[in-house]
Amino acid sequence: MTQSGRFLVGAIPGGNVLRMERSAETDLVQAGHSADPNRGVVPPIQPATTYARDTNYELTGGYLYSRHGAPNQTTVEEAAARLDNGAEARVFASGLAAFTALIETVPNGGSVVAPEVMYHGGQLWLRRLDERNRIALTLFDQCRPGDMEESIDRARPDMVWIETPVNPTWDVIDIPAAARAAHAVGGLLAVDSTVAPLTTRPIDLGADYTFHSATKFYNGHADLLGGILVAATKDDRWAEIDWIRTHTGAVMGAFEAWLLQRGMKTLYLRVDRASQSAMTVAGHFEGHAAVDKVLYPGLESHPGHEVAKAQMDRGFGAMLSILVKGGFEAAHRVATSTKLFIPATSLGGVESLIEHRAVLEPPESVVPDNLLRLSIGIEPVEELIADLEQALP
Ligand code: PLP
Repeated sequence: MTQSGRFLVGAIPGGNVLRMERSAETDLVQAGHSADPNRGVVPPIQPATTYARDTNYELTGGYLYSRHGAPNQTTVEEAAARLDNGAEARVFASGLAAFTALIETVPNGGSVVAPEVMYHGGQLWLRRLDERNRIALTLFDQCRPGDMEESIDRARPDMVWIETPVNPTWDVIDIPAAARAAHAVGGLLAVDSTVAPLTTRPIDLGADYTFHSATKFYNGHADLLGGILVAATKDDRWAEIDWIRTHTGAVMGAFEAWLLQRGMKTLYLRVDRASQSAMTVAGHFEGHAAVDKVLYPGLESHPGHEVAKAQMDRGFGAMLSILVKGGFEAAHRVATSTKLFIPATSLGGVESLIEHRAVLEPPESVVPDNLLRLSIGIEPVEELIADLEQALP
């Protein structure tokens, strides 16, 4: 065994290298482990809303009132900041609560630029603010090269919001290009990385904020709502976001934070497995007689494949869509004929889900009628493929 830089390294059977510095993965698995005074190996849940002062009337534990923050939430925030290489993270009651807190920092009359296709709930909120003249919203065509940069140049936004890969068409947006364009006009870049956890680290690529709907992959078990914002730097804007969270009460509860932290322990395993399976499913159905097109950034045929390769370093994620031959009706029949894929909205859980998006998309949506969105879970991939095969005509 030898000392190399900050690591103590040595070969172990199987060719792996011993590392004595704890990785982000280990920190995630053991997050909060030391918090229990009774030495329980998992952290206790602290549901207190208020914290006692000592005889000097001082708060010695670092907490005041749980709307400002609390121990289980802090454990998740520290893990989330480490995963995205950020300065600090905050957890919220849902993804949209985190999104609206961020957007609330845009000054009155300020401008926001976002893609035409993105999580529809977030876009509905931006459209509402635009209709009320609270902000000016510019949507760019994420499929047209140069449109993002031109739109940013024209609108000179306070905030650029992107999502990549874009839900549910999985177009890929170039994060470093978005950061360059936003910063050139004095704007900030926020990236929704919900569907690309671990494999894309937007802050490393120049973003100012990384966002996750923790409801999805971070928790992974479809049993809580949560949102996470990670900041590249702790500055006045970040303090404002924290203030907004506190004063709108958009905080995550202690039990949800505890559950989320438990779910996150297996994030690496779940994401790696589901992402490998997604690649196999995408490859299997590409060119299939009943399928018009498979949308998955891992496929070489995908227009965003090269950008995806450059900014995703741990697989291409667990989300893909299939355009079924035969339009709306055919897609609907498939979505109602699977026996293993569960027909439900949402994504990122251990169980695979199928969704006929046209049923949920708003009227202005450009999402094709025959698009089936698949959230690949951790079931054996052969069973997932067999299930889709029997459901397709
Ligand atoms: N971003 C993406 C990509 C999503 O898919 C969702 C929810 O589906 C959200 C944000 C909103 O998150 P939440 O449902 O936790 O509020």
